[in-house]
Amino acid sequence: MNAMGVFGGTFDPIHYGHLRTAFEMLQALRFQDVCFIPCGDPPHRGATFAAAHERLAMVEAAVDGQDGFIVDDREVRRDGPSYSVDTLEALRDENPGRSLGLIIGMDAFLGLTTWYRWRDLLSLAHIVVAHRPGWRAPDMGELGELIEQHGTHRVEDLHDAECGRIHIHAVTQLEISSTDIRDLIAGGRDPRFLMPDAVRGYIRRNGCYGGLATKEKN
Ligand code: ATP
Repeated sequence: MNAMGVFGGTFDPIHYGHLRTAFEMLQALRFQDVCFIPCGDPPHRGATFAAAHERLAMVEAAVDGQDGFIVDDREVRRDGPSYSVDTLEALRDENPGRSLGLIIGMDAFLGLTTWYRWRDLLSLAHIVVAHRPGWRAPDMGELGELIEQHGTHRVEDLHDAECGRIHIHAVTQLEISSTDIRDLIAGGRDPRFLMPDAVRGYIRRNGCYGGLATKEKN
């Protein structure tokens, strides 16, 4: 079993909702690795709050020491908008024959038809959708049809082919969002227990999200 999960996001900042989702996917879907890919310039939203190099550093701090978690900085290094299809094309070239599973939350999946060259995604990777609190799978429209054609409940199907299936997977519901964390920090409160201490320490030391920079470690 040599499949790789590909987990893109703004990670502004990364939190336990992301990490727990990735970990449950790693174990339940039997991925060899989950590769976190922070995007440089997200095409679907305005400017990020922390700089690309800060978001990358926070992701690196968050996954440090976890077997099977790796970080790829290609989108941060690349100029122009970070399109998932470009990243998957490059990963596909570098990993011939390897099963790739693009991990996205249900909220992101519901916007899939607005993604650049979205129809090409399934010729490059599987799409693994994590249930997120408050979001339901579409049963009609373009996405409903896509699920009907490509959907599978069988984890084996993700290993038998290198791309082309959609698998919706329930993960532990952690109602944590980066937006709420940013608001909390800007309001002078402490994000402790919503994210790894290493990420919280980075935010404190660098004064991200309107928090005051402090030399303090904890
Ligand atoms: P924001 O609040 O800034 O919109 P976000 O956490 O929703 O942040 P991203 O960092 O881009 O946004 O999320 C990366 C991916 O992780 C997306 O596919 C998103 O759906 C998923 N995700 C985010 N938070 C959770 C969570 N608590 N549980 C499961 N999946 C999540």
